Amino acid sequence: MATMKAVVLREPHKIEVMEVPKPEITDPGDVLLRVDLTAICGTDLHPYEGRIVIEDDVVLGHEFLGTVEAVGSGVGLISEGDRAVASCVVSCGHCYNCRRNRPGQCFGTMIFGLGVTFGGLSGGQAEYVIVPNADRTLRKLPEEGRGTDEDKLFVGDIMATGYEAVRKFIQPGDTVAVVGAGPVGLCAAMAANVLGASQTVVVDKVPSRLKEAEAIGAIPVNADETDPADAVQDLTDWRGADVVIDAVGHPSALLSACTLVRSGGAISIPGVYTEDTIELPFGDLYLKGVTIAQGVANITNYMDETLALIAAGKLDPSRFISHRMPMSEAVEAYRMFEEREATKIVLDPTA
Ligand SMILES: [Zn+2]
Ligand SMILES: [Zn+2]
Repeated sequence: MATMKAVVLREPHKIEVMEVPKPEITDPGDVLLRVDLTAICGTDLHPYEGRIVIEDDVVLGHEFLGTVEAVGSGVGLISEGDRAVASCVVSCGHCYNCRRNRPGQCFGTMIFGLGVTFGGLSGGQAEYVIVPNADRTLRKLPEEGRGTDEDKLFVGDIMATGYEAVRKFIQPGDTVAVVGAGPVGLCAAMAANVLGASQTVVVDKVPSRLKEAEAIGAIPVNADETDPADAVQDLTDWRGADVVIDAVGHPSALLSACTLVRSGGAISIPGVYTEDTIELPFGDLYLKGVTIAQGVANITNYMDETLALIAAGKLDPSRFISHRMPMSEAVEAYRMFEEREATKIVLDPTA
């Protein structure tokens, strides 16, 4: 049996780069992708740290891009030899929610590398991966224009996620406040600039991340030094931000977002919550008439837009990569990522 190298989560906190069976096409809609580039995401830490309980020996990874090695008989838009990036979320395309343009809430939602609870798809931190429903899940990489593989990789998750969070609510000239300058927060701030924000405020406590926010044209606010609500009030003639992005997924970030948003504004939550309940100032939110949106991102709705903006040189999320490592060093990469020594790590599966 043919084998390949893959990053396997043997059990929480125990990663092993090991030989596993090379996957094969089993459904007419499948594509077999040879992975050229893959990334570690904050979401991978949920199973890694045991906060999402998954079965042992799952191949991790849902952010990847590669070259098509084989296509199933039912695939029409993708051909052998194409280079393509995958949406981290796989949707069916014909259920009630998919028909209403909500693939993130597809009744058959699957996510790569998160175990049977999310459809049992083997992940992309591997030499090869099977991409189901490939006509929907994959996008061919534009051959013309600007942007590198490292930029295009991120339209499969963090760039599309940050972009959607802003795009759902932004009006030209808005003030956008982003809580959390991790990869998704920085992508959201980058998207806000492209989507017409007059000013984008980024709140965090880590100076290096705030420096990156400033470098892409955002106004950095260090929450250890300045009350973010005061800073946002000052910048908005005491209205508050029109759109607030919680890119953290922690109750403290959401509480902060509640203090930043103007009455009639929106809080958009790309951050992942696994808590059953959290406390919110609901009376205040009611009086302010705040709209709150969250949920698994509708990635496939925004891949074409973000790829086009990358090709146009208007989005360049690869600048948020802090480390490039061979996949053979995945154990160390996960350790660094968990310890917050790295903002964003990409892995080369061929090394
Ligand atoms: Zn991700
Ligand atoms: Zn569906």
